[in-house]
Amino acid sequence: MKDLFVRARLRFVYKRIVPSDVQAVLRRLALHGHQAFVVGGCVRDLVLGKKPQDWDVTTEARPEEVARIFERTVPSGVKHGTMTVLTTARPVEVTTYRIDVDYSDFRHPDKVVYTRDLREDLARRDLTINAMALGPSGELVDPFGGLRDLDRKVIRAVGDPAARFREDALRMMRAVRFSAQLGMTIEPATLSAVKTDAKLLKHVSAERIRDEFNKTLLAPAPAASLEVLRETGLLAVFLPELLEGVGFEQNVHHAFTVWEHTLIAVDAIPPVLHLRLAALLHDVAKPRTLAIIAGERHFYDHENLGAVMARSILRRLKYDNETIDRVIHLIRHHMALHLSPQMKDSAVRRLIARVGLDNIRDLLELRRADRMGSGKKPGPVSQGTLRLLARIERVLKEDSAFGLKDLAIDGNDVMVIGGLRPGPAIGQILRQLFEEVLENPALNRREILEARVREMAGVDGARTGQEG
Ligand code: ATP
Ligand code: MG
Repeated sequence: MKDLFVRARLRFVYKRIVPSDVQAVLRRLALHGHQAFVVGGCVRDLVLGKKPQDWDVTTEARPEEVARIFERTVPSGVKHGTMTVLTTARPVEVTTYRIDVDYSDFRHPDKVVYTRDLREDLARRDLTINAMALGPSGELVDPFGGLRDLDRKVIRAVGDPAARFREDALRMMRAVRFSAQLGMTIEPATLSAVKTDAKLLKHVSAERIRDEFNKTLLAPAPAASLEVLRETGLLAVFLPELLEGVGFEQNVHHAFTVWEHTLIAVDAIPPVLHLRLAALLHDVAKPRTLAIIAGERHFYDHENLGAVMARSILRRLKYDNETIDRVIHLIRHHMALHLSPQMKDSAVRRLIARVGLDNIRDLLELRRADRMGSGKKPGPVSQGTLRLLARIERVLKEDSAFGLKDLAIDGNDVMVIGGLRPGPAIGQILRQLFEEVLENPALNRREILEARVREMAGVDGARTGQEG
């Protein structure tokens, strides 16, 4: 009954939501006697009432036939039978029905064989929810029960899960990723196949693992799926360092083990990649830095060792340098906001100068999430941190200098005023001025700093600006 209703709604939705140029591609292929459907992720999203990101078309027509039928095509994925049709509004990927055969390396089919049977094309897809197609009048083709699984919130491999994971081990990461994104549960036989075959993930490239892992991390609440990655053995393949925190007790300030604390922190931080990664890795070095002194457990310097470990982990997973730098910067400074709220204004300015203006808010998010994960303290942020933040806000408003570039004069000025040649002395003078301005922001005025440069360079006022 429900099924009938969903199918009827899809016919309606098809006309309203599938872009007209995509519909036109299907009609055009039909006009030339070829079956064609929109397929995969976009059908899943349509059923869920979400806006699809891209529209993939699958057709019985061979690539060369597609090229003949449409004026403008690009052979974008010859090996997989994909032609990109350039319509006025958008490029549409049109892929010929195919069967992938013989995956001897656990990731790539050795051979692609075209077929005239849509069902065979759907059978090569990873999950039932991704193996549905929608035809030119909005009719749903769903041979593997994707609709039912979407309704029951179940992630299920198409066909025999073990066989499918041996073809392409990335599918195990995809199963976890979709369960995170859609808040669905992996059904028992599929989950048990992941557990059996998790080690095969080592045959998959770091880039493909990373992309699925990112989508998992950016899900609304990834903790449950991170736990699935751990318990299945997938995490052991690509991020074994995190396992050191499993069952690892902390100290009186923490109710949870390092791993539990990490999961709570990841869920608690906003879904922005560098923040989620920072939360995931901020305590990665705690187990390795444990020191027991007078019966108390300490983790001295875990933020610095953590930054070192995070860099090597993120490099291994082929993250871009900008992301790596942002994440390790946050990890390195994640204890900074633990400082005493009694500290002097100049110390607050120094803190801002050290972590950088742009990072203060990110650091606060990490602090908030970190505290949520302690399980001991009430509220996301302590009174002390709140007071410190109010002071940071105030200090920020003072328009002080938080880096050399904020000084009222620059290196060029120093050379001209001090009559100095380019060299290390210029930087030394600038850094000295910066120190003085950190102590007292009122000094950050051009005439005051110029006078200081003259003093330091040992020039008298009369010679100012004569050289350089
Ligand atoms: P997203 O919305 O994140 O793009 P998607 O389902 O569209 O999700 P894609 O990676 O764009 O994911 O893949 C498009 C379709 O191709 C999938 O819906 C699925 O049918 C099929 N597919 C993708 N990757 C695999 C794979 N590794 N093994 C089998 N089929 C796959
Ligand atoms: Mg897609």
